[in-house]
Amino acid sequence: QAKAQGKNTFRFFDAELQAVLAGRAALEADLRQSISRRQLLLHFQPQVDAQGRVLGAEALLRWQHPQRGLVPPGAFIPEAEQCGFVLELGQWVLDTACRTLAAWARHPHCSGLDLSVNVSALQLRDAHFVDDVLDTLRRHGADPRRLKLELTESLLAENVEDTIAKMSQLRAAGVGFSLDDFGTGYSSLNYLRRLPLEELKIDRSFVNDMLGDPNGAVIARTIVALGQTFGLQVIAEGVETPEQRDALLKMGCRRFQGFLFGRPVDQASFERLPQSLAAIPS
Ligand code: C2E
Ligand code: MG
Ligand code: MG
Ligand code: MG
Repeated sequence: QAKAQGKNTFRFFDAELQAVLAGRAALEADLRQSISRRQLLLHFQPQVDAQGRVLGAEALLRWQHPQRGLVPPGAFIPEAEQCGFVLELGQWVLDTACRTLAAWARHPHCSGLDLSVNVSALQLRDAHFVDDVLDTLRRHGADPRRLKLELTESLLAENVEDTIAKMSQLRAAGVGFSLDDFGTGYSSLNYLRRLPLEELKIDRSFVNDMLGDPNGAVIARTIVALGQTFGLQVIAEGVETPEQRDALLKMGCRRFQGFLFGRPVDQASFERLPQSLAAIPS
C-alpha cells in the first residue's frame, strides 16, 4: 500500500516537475526573443535628497509580453542568469541607460540627474565587462560620472580580487558603484573597505521593519553609521511612509527611494515629474 502510494506520489511529482520544466523552457525561449521583438523597456524610479530634490533615478527592467503582460524582473532575471542570457539582457539595459543619460544631458530639467543601473554578478564576471561599459558610454556620448552601477553582495562570493580590479578601472573613468540590498548578503567588513564603492543601499526589508521591529531600526542605523565611517553615501530603498523617511533622516540618512516619492514609471512620465518631490503625500 505504502509502496503504491509512493509510486503515485512519484508520478504526480514527475508530472508537476515536467510542467515546471516545460514552463521554464517556454519562458526562456520567449525571453531570448525579447530583445529582437522590442519587448524590453526600462522604468525609472526617482531618488531624492533630504529636501526631496530629485538626484536621479534607478533604471528597472520590464518585459512587455503580448500574452504574459508586463513581467517584473523577479520573474525572469533568475532564469536569464541560469541560461546565460543575462549577459545580453544586461548589455541591452546598459545601452538603453546610456542613451537615456545622453538624452537627459540635453534635457531642460534632467541634465543634472544620475542614473543607477542594476548589474548581475554574472555580468561583472564577464571578461569584456569593463570594455563593454566604457564602449557603451562612449558610443552614446554619456558622462560616466552620471552612471552608477548597483551590485549585490553575491559578487563577493568569489574572485574578489578580479571584482576589485574591474570596479577600479571603471571608477577611474568616473563610473560610481552602489552596494544594493545591503545587509541581506554576506559582506565582510574587510571587503567593504576594499571595494571602490560610493554608496550603500539599505535593503527595503529593514526600512519596512524599522518602525515595528526594533531590530530593523538597529540594522538601518548601523548601516548609516557604517557608511559614515567608510565615507560612503547611504540611500534607503522602499521608503513608503513619511514616518519611515523621518526616522531615517534622524539616523543621518540623506537619500531616499520608494513609493513615498514615486513609483517606477516610463521615461516620458519620469521626465514630467517635478524636480522636487518633498510634498508628495503618502
Ligand atoms: P532592486 O534593485 O533592489 O530594486 C528595487 C525594487 O524595489 C524594484 O522592484 C522597485 O520597484 C521596488 N520598490 C521600490 N520602491 C518600493 C517601495 O516603496 N515599496 C515596495 N514594496 N517596493 C519598492 P522591481 O522593479 O520589481 O525589481 C526587482 C529586482 O529585479 C531589483 O531589485 C533588481 O535586483 C532586479 N532588476 C531590476 N532591473 C534589473 C536589471 O536591469 N538588471 C538586473 N540584473 N537586475 C534587475
Ligand atoms: Mg537596485
Ligand atoms: Mg557619479
Ligand atoms: Mg535593492
